[in-house]
Amino acid sequence: MSDRKVMLVVAGHARDAADCRQLLDMLGLALPKPRRAPGRPTVDHGHGDHRTYIKGCRCTRCREAMRVRAVEKRAAWRSAPSAADRAGHGKLSTYKNYGCRCEPCKAANTEATRAGRAARREKAALAETGGAR
Ligand SMILES: [Zn+2]
Ligand SMILES: [Zn+2]
Repeated sequence: MSDRKVMLVVAGHARDAADCRQLLDMLGLALPKPRRAPGRPTVDHGHGDHRTYIKGCRCTRCREAMRVRAVEKRAAWRSAPSAADRAGHGKLSTYKNYGCRCEPCKAANTEATRAGRAARREKAALAETGGAR
């Protein structure tokens, strides 16, 4: 009988994994190394990891990890002005995420603030008049 066959027999008689290991120990056989499943290995980083968030988890811990990472990323972008150059100027995202304060980016932020305020004012006005004027 080959070692492999013995192992299968032992595994068939064992109550659980620990029992199986003990039986194999008694026979002087080592457990075969667990082979990796074919294909892409499942990357399980557990919860509280931005990678798990990216995989689709939206639990509190993963969201917090993602938020912290975004803060760190923004800080890194901010400390590297060339990153803002790559992102392009005159954009609100460059002003906000990269902390760029060049004229085109400041103008984009001013415009966005103005537009947001106007939209809110319009909404408030509509609510006051009940939408009919
Ligand atoms: Zn999670
Ligand atoms: Zn800029």
